[in-house]
Order: sequence, then C-alpha cells, then structure tokens
Amino acid sequence: MQFQPILEEIVETVRPLLGAQGHVANYIPALARVPAAQFGSALRTCDGQEAQAGDSGTRFSIQSISKLFALTLGMGALGDALWDRIGREPSGNPFNSLVQLEAEQGTPRNPFINAGAIAVTDRLVSQGDAKAALLELLSSLCNEPVHFDEEVAASEAATGFRNMALGNFMKSFGKIDNDVAAVLDAYFHHCAVGMSCLQLARATGYLCRDGRHPFSGEQLLTERQTRRINSLMLTCGTYDAAGEFAFRIGLPCKSGVGGGIVAVVPDRLSLCVWSPALDATGNSLLGMHALELFTTRTGLSVF
Ligand code: GLN
Repeated sequence: MQFQPILEEIVETVRPLLGAQGHVANYIPALARVPAAQFGSALRTCDGQEAQAGDSGTRFSIQSISKLFALTLGMGALGDALWDRIGREPSGNPFNSLVQLEAEQGTPRNPFINAGAIAVTDRLVSQGDAKAALLELLSSLCNEPVHFDEEVAASEAATGFRNMALGNFMKSFGKIDNDVAAVLDAYFHHCAVGMSCLQLARATGYLCRDGRHPFSGEQLLTERQTRRINSLMLTCGTYDAAGEFAFRIGLPCKSGVGGGIVAVVPDRLSLCVWSPALDATGNSLLGMHALELFTTRTGLSVF
C-alpha cells in the first residue's frame, strides 16, 4: 500500500477544520501558548517505508505519550513486579482524577492515567536516573537525540497541583517509595519531552514489531509484554474516550495533551498524528478525526 498519498489526502481534508474546534491545553501555561492551527502526521512501516504530511517535522510536547515509554522502561526493568501497585483497568474518569484512588487504597487503575504514570515513575526513580533513562530510550528508538523542553517542565512543576496531590495521596498509602518531589520532577520532565510526528512514528516502531527495536532489531520487550502494552493502549490509552477510539478508529492509541496521538497496527506500522486543539477528554480533536479517516481509507484495524 502507498501511504504517502493517503496522508496527504488526510491533510487536505482536515486543513479547512484547523483551529475551528477545541482548545489547546490551558492548564499548563507553556502549552496554552502553542498555536492551535497546526496538523501533522507520519508513519513508518515494519519494513522501513516512511510517509509524512503537514507539520510532521514540528516538535511538540509529547505529554502523556511519555507514559508509554515510561511503562516500557518499567516493564523491561521490573517484569511482572511492576503490576504489584498498578492496575490494568480503564478508569472511566479524567486522566488527572483523584476520586478512584481513595476507594482503591492508592492503587491507580492503570499506567496511562497520571496517578499510574507517577507510580511507574517512582519505580524508575528507584532504579536510577529516570530522566536520563527516558531520553536514552527515546533517542535510541528514533535514532537521533531527543531533549526535554525545560520551559514546559518548569511550567508543569509550577502549576502541577493535582499531580502533587496524586503523588502525595499515593505516598500516604505507602505506595510511593521515593521522595514525592523527586518522582514528580522526573514525571514532569517525561511529559515535557519535545518530539515530532516522524520521531514518534519511528520511536513506537517496537510496538508493531513484537518488541523489537525499530532500527537495531534488538528485543526491547518480549512479544508478550508488547502485546500487553498494545492491549492497554486500546483499553486505557485515551482515558475515558477509549471506548470511542476503539469504536471509531479500532487501533491501540496513546494520546497526550500536547495534541499528539500515536497508534499501532501490529505487524504493519506505527503512526503519529498531531494537532494541538483538544476535546473535553484531553484528546486531539483533529488527530482523532485524522486517525478515523486513516483506518477508514486503509481498512487497517485490529478487529
Ligand atoms: N503533563 C500532563 C499532566 O500531568 C499530562 C496529561 C496528559 O497528557 N493527558 O497533567
């Protein structure tokens, strides 16, 4: 299949809608300044074919897409022990909600909501330098250096009251081992990584290759672990819109409030779309629309 014309066609379809609906994330001041009228997409197939269209080379804040890579590091380092303190059920609540944590004694529903990612990050902090580990993984996966946007990290740290509450609340249940401030510093930096659609399409390549590194072929995770990540993306990767994503798009996806969404077609390709304006669930409106156009046009689906 020739993907380049398909991605170009999608850009043409969404272009008239740019900036018309939704809002950029405004609870993180550095993200509130990002111009909404941008759209990019890129993909990389398992045999190395690449396609990209629109603002595919523009770096944006990956935000919660980083939860995918933090989980990858955690599963690689800890194996099944990672699941002692983290569930695998959709939350049915906003990504920064506190309510379930109390009823469930400080055990987050899944690793893709904020509480879950903070719990994963705590385990990574216990292993060593969690910030450096994530940059090293991402730079290796997309085959070029990846950096934190320090302005975004500082902006999150200055306004991340809910995340501080989540961290401290879990700590009160004895579910966080390290100093909460150190864990949040790593978590905020993970969210503040800047990457482009093309870099993310490359970096997620191990998820469509049964855990093999997209360039070196090295086994990063086992096939079984990789399937589990894909299943979590499908059920929990887009928060309480996961049902809608499965219904309309039919692929494992992970979104972030920077407006990026990555998606995986197992054994075929990984792709990334980006447009900063979000819907009420914190998912990119045009990103979701573009993914629906892509799966409709190509017939690709996990179902
Ligand atoms: N950094 C954001 C936060 O902690 C990430 C949220 C997201 O992308 N859904 O709130």
